[in-house]
Amino acid sequence: MSSVPVAVVTGSNKGIGFAIVQALCKQFPGDVYLTARDPGRGQEAVAKLQKEGLHPLFHQLDIDDVQSIRALRDFLKEKYGGLNVLVNNAGIAFKVHDTTPFAVQAEVTLKTNFFGTRNICTELLPLVKPYGKVVNVSSMVSSSALGRCSQELQQKFRSDTITEDELVGLMTKFVEDAKNSVHEKEGWPNTAYGVSKIGVTVLSRIQAQMLNEKRKGDHILLNACCPGWVRTDMAGPQATKSPEEGAETPVYLALLPSDADGPHGQFVSNKTVQPW
Ligand code: NAP
Repeated sequence: MSSVPVAVVTGSNKGIGFAIVQALCKQFPGDVYLTARDPGRGQEAVAKLQKEGLHPLFHQLDIDDVQSIRALRDFLKEKYGGLNVLVNNAGIAFKVHDTTPFAVQAEVTLKTNFFGTRNICTELLPLVKPYGKVVNVSSMVSSSALGRCSQELQQKFRSDTITEDELVGLMTKFVEDAKNSVHEKEGWPNTAYGVSKIGVTVLSRIQAQMLNEKRKGDHILLNACCPGWVRTDMAGPQATKSPEEGAETPVYLALLPSDADGPHGQFVSNKTVQPW
């Protein structure tokens, strides 16, 4: 078994995830895994970084597929006995003018952004080693969408005592409400992406609390963050940040020094803790 530290970035064949791998290859003292759901796109991305003199490793990972997640889990367990840094970056967004029915957008978006991210956490968090770092890439859109939820939902999502099961119940209810065309009546904002990222931010708060309760002595720091508005296939060419700039906050959180006791359980943007 290798004692080399290991970092894993989900959805890193392009965009912000690719830039996070690029930065970690330069700054993280260990093996860095570029992962992609499509091995062809993944290997192509690895080759691109190799041309820059960097040495990422590759593992297939589709966060929508529990078998794929478990294959990565078993690989990390066997080869490294766990992992040191996990960046949950993979995500999707329908374009603003996409005419796919809202109910479908809700189901598809939540499936990857919330349920896929949660499944990764369920399988990989127990493997994170002491002094490890976990970064869940959310979005400022989670905050704006929270502000457009009913008072009752806002109270639930801001609660310090909401459980993971309750959060899963709410995310499932949003998809059902969208299918029944009652999501707005039920207090949800009209944004599937926004609700999925509320899920990611709240999940991060819950998981940080869980680490406080069950693994206090392990000094693991887990946060959600916003990369900013970044020029990628998702956000388009008008966005203000380059992918390298978008990677800065996730990389900062992934490389917090081992004597740091925070941020933890926070929502961070521009390397600054934001109110939730
Ligand atoms: P992007 O360029 O579209 O890249 C998304 C990445 O996620 C791609 O590598 C994609 O792989 C991967 N992915 C999607 N579904 C996946 C799945 N089921 N399993 C594994 N990988 C999957 O988007 P981006 O702008 O870099 O976004 C990265 C993260 O930042 C997302 O979580 C996004 O919500 C968040 N974010 C972005 C912005 C922005 O302005 N760009 C702002 C706030 C937050 P494929 O190539 O196979 O599709």
